[in-house]
Amino acid sequence: METGRIIKGIGGFYYIDFHGKTYECKARGIFRKNKLVPMVGDYVSFSITDEAQQLGMIEEIKDRETELIRPAVANVDQAVVVFAAAQPEPNLSLLDRFLVLAESQGLEIIIVINKIDLVEPSRLKKIKNIYSHTGYPLIFTTRTQKDTIDGLRSLLTDKTTVFAGPSGVGKSTLLNNIQSNLVMETGAISTKTERGKHTTRHVELIPLDSGGWVVDTPGFSSLSVDFFQEQDLSHFFKEFALPMETCRFSSCIHENEPHCGVKEAVESGEIALGRYESYLQLLAEIRKNRRY
Ligand code: ZN
Repeated sequence: METGRIIKGIGGFYYIDFHGKTYECKARGIFRKNKLVPMVGDYVSFSITDEAQQLGMIEEIKDRETELIRPAVANVDQAVVVFAAAQPEPNLSLLDRFLVLAESQGLEIIIVINKIDLVEPSRLKKIKNIYSHTGYPLIFTTRTQKDTIDGLRSLLTDKTTVFAGPSGVGKSTLLNNIQSNLVMETGAISTKTERGKHTTRHVELIPLDSGGWVVDTPGFSSLSVDFFQEQDLSHFFKEFALPMETCRFSSCIHENEPHCGVKEAVESGEIALGRYESYLQLLAEIRKNRRY
């Protein structure tokens, strides 16, 4: 029995990477009976049924460290959230939404601000002032800036990384500068269906020469946060963690309560006002959805 990793799943077949070779495998019926479905990213034990054809059978799925739902990938370590400094204008409220979703999945996070050559340094400083408080690594780059791309590449080594961000921010170009021909420029790995009308996306782990894997995705396909509980939301704003400890009420949701550590931190500048406003906006969204 060998241990490999599922890098792609199409039509009941799972493609398993085993020391750089790919085996086409089926899963034992027992998984279906136990309602356990193999996922891309799973580490599995498998038996080779035909070495020449590179065919096999999945015998066991190893326990998952993490399990993303959208995109459906297991054992992801970190998310690189890519935004542009301009073209398109950065929507920081949307960036915060990406961060909250990645944080709620327990991922390490790296923020990349691309296309910095298109704006004045003062604009970048503003972004830096807001996000330096989060403690997330913050990388300012252009798609061809060699030193930052080298730095980013080394952060990906031996990790499984989801790349997320809105369209038009230069995510694919950035990935292809990390390693040539890593992804298609459209960002989508798509195949036409028989009718030719729809395109289907397959989530796929793409190997890095330097070790590690990347998953290219158009984003967390749903950016809704309505499945969160009000009480949980503040835990997904990383820089709120310390100030929250000084809230008088343990049930504080940092809105109208007196002696709130978070609100005090906003006043002292320890938490950026923009981040707090994003928090309130998402909080309102959770409440609105709960009402229906
Ligand atoms: Zn509070």
